[in-house]
Amino acid sequence: MFKKILYPTDFSDVAAKALDYIKQLKEAGAQEVTILHVINQRIIDGLMRHAMLDRDILNWKEKAQEIARESLAEMSRDLENIGFTVKHIVRTGFPWREILDVEEIENPSLIVIGSHGRTNLGDMFLGSVSDRVIRKCRRPVMVIKRDMDD
Ligand code: ATP
Ligand code: MN
Repeated sequence: MFKKILYPTDFSDVAAKALDYIKQLKEAGAQEVTILHVINQRIIDGLMRHAMLDRDILNWKEKAQEIARESLAEMSRDLENIGFTVKHIVRTGFPWREILDVEEIENPSLIVIGSHGRTNLGDMFLGSVSDRVIRKCRRPVMVIKRDMDD
């Protein structure tokens, strides 16, 4: 039923919790996982406002991509070890927009996303990325809630 899963992660605790649920979805027929991390364009815009040199911004972006790729590769190995077929993608842009774009391309049967991410503000019902993705995505979405004591 949920053969192909799209899993966007910002490397937060809530996103890590979502990964635990993906592992359990194997029993519900999950076979493939596409892991996606988006390097936030807002951070790059912030660096530009602080008049950082283009070269330094480029270095920062390359370093961020490298670290993200390594983390995603590690997660992939973990999932492959338990029998999933895994693809991982690193993009740069506005996370919600890139997630929706990858949804179009990959056509998953399910999106598994955290209710919150790294900001994780106490009284927010949803983070801004999950809010937009849930509103605009076409495929079914499973929202993994943060721990109440987070
Ligand atoms: P906000 O970003 O609005 O300050 P937040 O960080 O608490 O709030 P979101 O960013 O909406 O919450 O994160 C919710 C979920 O969206 C995360 O658990 C993750 O699954 C996904 N997500 C967020 N940012 C990214 C990203 N840069 N790349 C991939 N997935 C992301
Ligand atoms: Mn966030």
